[in-house]
Amino acid sequence: MSNLDLKPQPSICGGRDGVSAQPVRELLTGKQVPLGESTVVRRLLPNLGRRMVGAWCFVDHYGPDDIESEPGMRVAPHPHIGLQTVSWLHDGFVEHRDSLGTVQTVRPRELGLMTAGRAIAHAEQSPASHGKWLHGAQLWVALPDAHRFTDPAFEHHAELPRVQGQGVDATLILGSLDGATSPGHVFSPLMGADLTLAAGANARLPLHPDFEYAALAMTGAAVVDDVCVEPGSLLYLGCGRRELPLRADDGPASVLLLGGEPFEEKLVMWWNFVARTHEDIEAAREAWMHGTAFGTVHGYDGAPIPAPELPPLRLKPRGRER
Ligand code: MN
Repeated sequence: MSNLDLKPQPSICGGRDGVSAQPVRELLTGKQVPLGESTVVRRLLPNLGRRMVGAWCFVDHYGPDDIESEPGMRVAPHPHIGLQTVSWLHDGFVEHRDSLGTVQTVRPRELGLMTAGRAIAHAEQSPASHGKWLHGAQLWVALPDAHRFTDPAFEHHAELPRVQGQGVDATLILGSLDGATSPGHVFSPLMGADLTLAAGANARLPLHPDFEYAALAMTGAAVVDDVCVEPGSLLYLGCGRRELPLRADDGPASVLLLGGEPFEEKLVMWWNFVARTHEDIEAAREAWMHGTAFGTVHGYDGAPIPAPELPPLRLKPRGRER
């Protein structure tokens, strides 16, 4: 998915100063951002309060939207560098096309993992014939400096490991939880899991005390460490936890749990690019506008998305956090 903000502001993120070393419970609400022609998403990361959770650097929640008489998702070809994208659905299908020639339909609770590395372009859309509902999350993972120029790649994993118990059914998106590990290729210590809570669930999930975590509520009224988290909200949990209490007191609920080792490197994020300097961003923008480096996405009915104007201020990765 693309950041379709017409005037995207640069975000400086990463580094220890943005990380809570202790357990905390910070409830973050999303900023409403128009996406494509007919969708509004809630942007949870970057947020004014928090920029990253481990290497997770971008979290959008969308839906459930009734798209029965709408085209649904239509995100035209656009570029990425320096990150991985995860398309994660609870309802509806997404057709992914990229400049490697990949054409892949991603279905609910299947992993579509795109590694941009040095450069990739892709498009995403609801199939022409689609069901009533579209509901999901778009997640980005920042690549560490040692891997940010890696070869672009796309992985699709229809079957993912699950762990079940105490009323929780967990599907591993990336990394590990309670002995289960996703086949998705990651470049730094991190995890993501989709948690379905049965009505009345009362569970404690094992966590890694060196990781920081956050929980994104998808449906129902999940109670995460005694905080009721409404769908579309993100509860930042900090580091230093060995377990996470989870309950579903008022019916079934679902939550995405995201975590990882705090990301030590400072990043510059702008539009669809994750880099280290203003010059990196400028070069990627120029390459996209001149049709070089990113390749071509075939089979999407529509023109590629032009890059927005770069703001005049210089992006300083060593600058203040806020
Ligand atoms: Mn994208």
